[in-house]
Amino acid sequence: MSKKFKPGEFVAVSLMGDISFAQNEEFQRIIDRTSKFPETRFLFCTKNPARYLSLEFPDNCVLGATIESDVIYSGTKAPSPMSRYKAMVQLKHLHKFISIEPVMKFDLSTMVYWMSRIGPEIVEIGGDNYGHGLPEPEPWQVWALIKQLGKFVPRIIQKPGLDRILGKVERCGLCGEVMIKIIGSMVCDNKTCQRYRQPVPKSRR
Ligand SMILES: [Zn+2]
Repeated sequence: MSKKFKPGEFVAVSLMGDISFAQNEEFQRIIDRTSKFPETRFLFCTKNPARYLSLEFPDNCVLGATIESDVIYSGTKAPSPMSRYKAMVQLKHLHKFISIEPVMKFDLSTMVYWMSRIGPEIVEIGGDNYGHGLPEPEPWQVWALIKQLGKFVPRIIQKPGLDRILGKVERCGLCGEVMIKIIGSMVCDNKTCQRYRQPVPKSRR
C-alpha cells in the first residue's frame, strides 16, 4: 500500500489472499492509508467478515465477504456461511459487497433473504472455473438468484465463467422463458404461457 492512488480508481485490497489474516496493526495501517485517498474506492473481501466489526472504516471503503452458498461444505477453514452472513448484517457500514464465488449448491430463498438483510451495493457471482468439481447449483437457480437479487441490489456483476452454468438453463418450448423447478418438476414461470406452473395433484405431494 505504498503507491499513490488516483481519484475514481477502484482498488481491490488483498493481503496474503485474505485480509482477515493480516495482523491488527497492519490492518489498521491499511485503513489509515485508505482514508488519505478519499476519492479512491477500496474494495475489501474476506471469508471472515467478523474481523470488520471491531474496526472503523472510512466511507470510501467497500467491505466485502465471500458467501459462496448458505450451505456448509467441508474443505474450508473459513467461518460458516451463517456466521459470515450474521457478521455482515451486524456490520454498520454504508458500502457492502458480497462475492458469491465459486457459487455452490444453495437454497434459493435463504440466499435471497440473506442478501436482502445484508443490503450489499454490489454482488459478484462466479462459477468454479478451475474444475474443482464443487457441488454446483442447478442452472435455473443461478438464473433465479440473479433475477431476484436484481430487484434490490444496485449492481450485480456476472463473472465471465458464469456463462458456462447459465448456458445450461432449460427454456420453455412454447414461450422461451426459463423453466424453474417447483416441487420437483420443471415448469414455465411465464404467467401468460399455457404451461405456466402446471398444478400438481395433492396426492403426489
Ligand atoms: Zn412457457
